[in-house]
Amino acid sequence: MNENIFNSQIVYNLRMSYAIINSHIITMDGENLGIIENGGVGFRDNTIDYVGPISGFDYQSYEFIVEGKNQISMPGLINTHFHSSSTLLRGGAQDVPEIEWMNKAIGPLAQSLTTEDRILGSQIGVLEGIRSGTTTFAENTRDVDSIIDKSHLKFGSRVVAAETINEISSNRVNLHPRDLYEYDKEKGEGELKTCEALFNKYQGNELISCMYGPQALDMVSLDLLSTIYERAREQEAMIHMHVAQGGRERIQIEERYGSGASTVSVLNNNNMLNKRLLAAHIHDTTNEERKLMVQNDVKMASCQSSIAMIDGLVSPVSDYINMGGIAGLGTDQAPGPGNHNMIREMRTASLLAKVTSKDPTALPCWEALRLGTINGAAALGIDKEVGSLQIGKKADIIMIDMNRLNMIPFVTKPFRTFVPNLVYSANGSEVSNVFINGKQILSDGQFLDVDVEKLKEEALDRANIIFQQASEEWRIAGSKLVSMVENGFL
Ligand SMILES: [Zn+2]
Repeated sequence: MNENIFNSQIVYNLRMSYAIINSHIITMDGENLGIIENGGVGFRDNTIDYVGPISGFDYQSYEFIVEGKNQISMPGLINTHFHSSSTLLRGGAQDVPEIEWMNKAIGPLAQSLTTEDRILGSQIGVLEGIRSGTTTFAENTRDVDSIIDKSHLKFGSRVVAAETINEISSNRVNLHPRDLYEYDKEKGEGELKTCEALFNKYQGNELISCMYGPQALDMVSLDLLSTIYERAREQEAMIHMHVAQGGRERIQIEERYGSGASTVSVLNNNNMLNKRLLAAHIHDTTNEERKLMVQNDVKMASCQSSIAMIDGLVSPVSDYINMGGIAGLGTDQAPGPGNHNMIREMRTASLLAKVTSKDPTALPCWEALRLGTINGAAALGIDKEVGSLQIGKKADIIMIDMNRLNMIPFVTKPFRTFVPNLVYSANGSEVSNVFINGKQILSDGQFLDVDVEKLKEEALDRANIIFQQASEEWRIAGSKLVSMVENGFL
């Protein structure tokens, strides 16, 4: 036999040529899942050059051969809405009323986060994502460049980055919900400049592409937003924005644009519902508004766990795709939803769709898989590069170990039960190998080149300090969690 048969403990993380043999392949190519039983996938450098039956596969011509028996090979998962930098606050804000989440629960804790904490949190969040099969992250945050540099580039993940642009003046203290936010033109323009600089800096980078990141319609003026749309057209780039996030936003929009105005109506009246918009959440929209968004080719990023945990609502992704819209899934931030695990998000999306529609056929496992892969890539406008296993596409490939107590048995006749098992039985720990842009990042469940233990220790130390420092303010803020601590529940 070939002496290069892959030994999972050997560190081969340079981009070379790999052949994955004897695994079941979910290619996501075409209208369905494009399943190939006991097939082969080959890639050289960063590009896939074979996907098909094992019989026609000249796998001996590759430098490394990865045995895939009892495994699934599939495209890496795509997280379409991701704020990694608050991951050190995981567990800090959930099970509270929506109105308390921002100001009383997460706010007092977030004040203690330093720039280094945001980076450390991002590193934990990105590693958690890769470990559970995510290969592309649509990162949306302020100072995204340091997150790209010290987190994504460090670990080799693919990133679609948006620098947050927020025009609200920093002196907004104790505003009543109906008091209009004051805008600071200079601040907004400065943040737009920071965002634009990234387009030049990362032009031609294989792993990084950029979007514009206006935070939300209530947080930027229409003037600035028009400029952003104009620039996005020139750059042929997309705009990653939170859209129709709920009560607080709705009140601001009504106060500013008149009673009856909604985020979607204002965007529509200003020709801002178009193919360039990636709209996160959209749970505060009517059916008619969603239809309008679909008709105008707006893409949706749906964060099911986050919206359920923070708002007690279901993000309407199932509706959106049933109307013919393009959508992907995302994890938002760790505090609240609790994780950056896209396998769990696929399952959650399916369960919530079934419950809200009282219909067990809603969002079946094959649709959840499309949301997590090819449709997520389409929502980010990168589906020509990634999202499915096809010759010529980038080698972003994950393998899933099906030989686990929670995954077996699986059969292929009369149908492939590994498809439902992947969505409904997996928890993310089954991801065995991860390749991003042809480079191996995870081997047999272990990271190559990353001292995960050290990072975990640092995260633990820093979180203890952050929560300790914030404890007085957190108590004074008085969220529901404070009384839960007093009653011995937390
Ligand atoms: Zn968000």
